Amino acid sequence: MKTLNKEMQDAITPTMALDILKEGNKRFVSNLKVNRNLLQQANETSDGQHPFAVILSCIDSRTSAELIFDQGLGDVFSVRIAGNIINEDILGSMEFGCKVAGSKIIVVLGHTKCGAIKGACDHVEMGNLTALLSKIQPAVYDEKTETENRNSGNIEFVEKVAAINVKRTVHAIMERSPILKEMIEAGEIGIAGGSHNIATGEVSFYEDTLILK
Ligand SMILES: [Zn+2]
Repeated sequence: MKTLNKEMQDAITPTMALDILKEGNKRFVSNLKVNRNLLQQANETSDGQHPFAVILSCIDSRTSAELIFDQGLGDVFSVRIAGNIINEDILGSMEFGCKVAGSKIIVVLGHTKCGAIKGACDHVEMGNLTALLSKIQPAVYDEKTETENRNSGNIEFVEKVAAINVKRTVHAIMERSPILKEMIEAGEIGIAGGSHNIATGEVSFYEDTLILK
């Protein structure tokens, strides 16, 4: 697998970027890997990087974006925070990744059995975690279909809140970043929300979140 250079990055469209990730995840769930020389990639990216995607995912130790999409060095900007929430620092990082460094897609990736989502479902309050979980609370309130056991003991509830959290985050990125919104509307970048099943490794994308021009 070749290390991305500016020319290769320029040739990738937002739709192609999503396909590259889908193909990589297919390899991951098949227990296959593209042959990469990571040390050589380190050398080849030492003077600059041209990643094709910005991926916002959880800190969960089972959800490394590079591993589950079978990507190497210089391929993706990986933003990781509990519950894959956004704040202005994360939006700034995404703006850097797309506007300055030329990435072609933003992916917001939730996952099953997320501890942060469970914490929000249980209204956990603890130190600085309280403020972080408060950013997931709107998704908890938006989930209206589960009327009983609205807590982490209800797996259906947890997974529905996780999906809503991803979709809300996709919308919030466009609402809160005029730079990214303009790039999406111009078709310069795409955006996609998805979920990673930590048991199977499979990533599925939510059709109603995809904007790929
Ligand atoms: Zn998580």
